[in-house]
Amino acid sequence: MTEQNISNLSHEDRVFEPPADLAANANVKAEVYEQAAADRVKFWGEQADRLTWGTPFTEVLDWSNPPFAKWYVGGKLNASYNCVDRHVEAGNGDKVALHFVGEPEDDTRDITYAELKDLVSQAANALIDLGVKAGDRIAIYLPMIPEAVIAMLACARLGAPHTVVFGGFSADALSSRILDCEAKVVITADGGYRRGAPSALKPAVDEALQKCPDVTGVLVVRRTGQDVEWTEGRDVWWHDAVDTASKDHTPEMFDAEHPLYVMYTSGTTGKPKGILHTTGGYMVQSTYTFWGVFDYKPEDVYWCTADVGWVTGHSYIVYGPLANGATQVLYEGTPDTPHKGRWWEIIEKYKVTLFYTAPTAIRTFMKWGEQIPAEHDLSSLRILGSVGESINPEAYVWYRENIGGGKTPIVDTWWQTETGAHMISPLPGVTKGKPGSAMTAIPGIAAEVVDDAGEPVEHGEGGYLVITEPWPSMLRTIWGDDDRYKETYWSRWPGFYFAGDGARKDDDGAIWLLGRVDDVMNVSGHRLSTTEIESALVSHPKVAEAAVVGATDETTGQAVVAFVILRESAGDGGEEIVQELRNHVGKEIGAIAKPRQIMIVPELPKTRSGKIMRRLLRDVAENREVGDATTLADSGIMDKITAGMKTAK
Ligand code: ATP
Ligand code: MG
Repeated sequence: MTEQNISNLSHEDRVFEPPADLAANANVKAEVYEQAAADRVKFWGEQADRLTWGTPFTEVLDWSNPPFAKWYVGGKLNASYNCVDRHVEAGNGDKVALHFVGEPEDDTRDITYAELKDLVSQAANALIDLGVKAGDRIAIYLPMIPEAVIAMLACARLGAPHTVVFGGFSADALSSRILDCEAKVVITADGGYRRGAPSALKPAVDEALQKCPDVTGVLVVRRTGQDVEWTEGRDVWWHDAVDTASKDHTPEMFDAEHPLYVMYTSGTTGKPKGILHTTGGYMVQSTYTFWGVFDYKPEDVYWCTADVGWVTGHSYIVYGPLANGATQVLYEGTPDTPHKGRWWEIIEKYKVTLFYTAPTAIRTFMKWGEQIPAEHDLSSLRILGSVGESINPEAYVWYRENIGGGKTPIVDTWWQTETGAHMISPLPGVTKGKPGSAMTAIPGIAAEVVDDAGEPVEHGEGGYLVITEPWPSMLRTIWGDDDRYKETYWSRWPGFYFAGDGARKDDDGAIWLLGRVDDVMNVSGHRLSTTEIESALVSHPKVAEAAVVGATDETTGQAVVAFVILRESAGDGGEEIVQELRNHVGKEIGAIAKPRQIMIVPELPKTRSGKIMRRLLRDVAENREVGDATTLADSGIMDKITAGMKTAK
């Protein structure tokens, strides 16, 4: 092991076997790993049969000009047709596609596949009337309402790539994305419901468009009924344009490499990048992984709590589930409106079987206490998923016990905006679950952990996560910037995709994600991962959430500074809490990892996908002015944190 490798500090021995009945009926069985590894290209060629193609492809992969891949060469398909029409044609038009649950109680709406087909066709016809043609970009800035899904599918139907901008983002974030991808039309709403009150969206669009003269049309959904400014000749109500449009629309088949969407990464680490996904490969891998990783069966009721403004909402609310013809819940609001049991109430009501959320949410529920989910019947659940960051072992066990009734496998899915779909994850009927590990690459994917020289590390050691072979749903480029694409992802080691995450392999070869390489701390020459120290803090019974950063230190180079949210049951933690936590980290992983400083805070700065923005905390720890915070889910949070911070040395 080189000195540069990230130290391996955690010890986690708990293992959960897949339930026998699930294993016996699993969609993907153990032997598939080997079959896929023997011929990856053939494997992905076969998975393409999950889709309906207008013209069959002649070659699975063209990798003659790396890192620019072409998958399913010569094939033609329509993503929207695959998500909607074909299910209706197969006689499943009456099946519910979306159980929409608005934030206001009793505001629910079920939409069948037949209805969805009509709605998507009408929206496509309305966009045509606004002058939209194949290749035009459309920005979508909507709350979590059915129109968000309908709008995305309508764009896909026309071959007009969408760029969905999270509804919580500011006018600036919206205008910079519209300008970067030169969007022609914006689809938005008057507002949405957030924490029990209408929250406006249209004013941000009006402000953003002052800087975007090339936008010719704005389609506006009336959701809350609040007053809006109106620009005649540009703004059109959805109910005027879409509800009156024809329900007949014949989808055109597009080339497999036709752009499907541009998704800007959340900017946890810097300037957002417009990640380009194309149609064929993206659809194949999101369809396969939804089916395989969630062991999807036609009678399942699925719910992913992500926002459509995040890649998870694209692959695992829209394209993956709908291409499989699944029934799913779509929820508009926050977990605590009108009460902290809202999610569990929804699971109970719709008998949700497959549930997919983020560690940040699970830690919030841990903070609130297990008595809240205990009031609901969650026995319908059979598989739980996690995405967005490493799940702390303590949070994993809490999730399995209190939400999964101690019986459900947890699929900890590692992937990125750039990868388009799941890459590393347990398969629920095959893989043992180790709390905190994403386990192994899924069939057809080749992942490795390498050292600085690009050589695979030994079992038991840490390094950098890379993907060594192209995969169908890989990003094709950064929108308008091929050089940045090559430089960011493919230049570190020739032929390898550099994910930017630290990882280690355990003695069995299972992969443990250690956090971003940019966040790794260097304390007295030891490279420490944020994930392991945070997990050690979260394993203390008084702690709900923790974030650690490296702050400049005269003696050790960098020192560990921790920001901690206490569980509600811990009160203010008492006088000794800081010393207690420091000792706890010392005991769990060693003296080297003991934080120099621990701040008890009421909140942490997070992106829309619930990721902690350590960059901003580093500014706090080093007493600097806080940097660019435009991609925070809640822009006022940094003030709340510094105001409510209890510091201790
Ligand atoms: P930016 O690249 O602009 O900083 P982002 O990386 O936050 O944005 P995403 O693509 O949503 O945007 O996040 C991908 C990252 O999330 C991964 O690189 C990894 O750091 C983390 N991640 C996602 N899922 C997991 C997981 N199951 N375990 C550990 N880390 C995960
Ligand atoms: Mg990233």
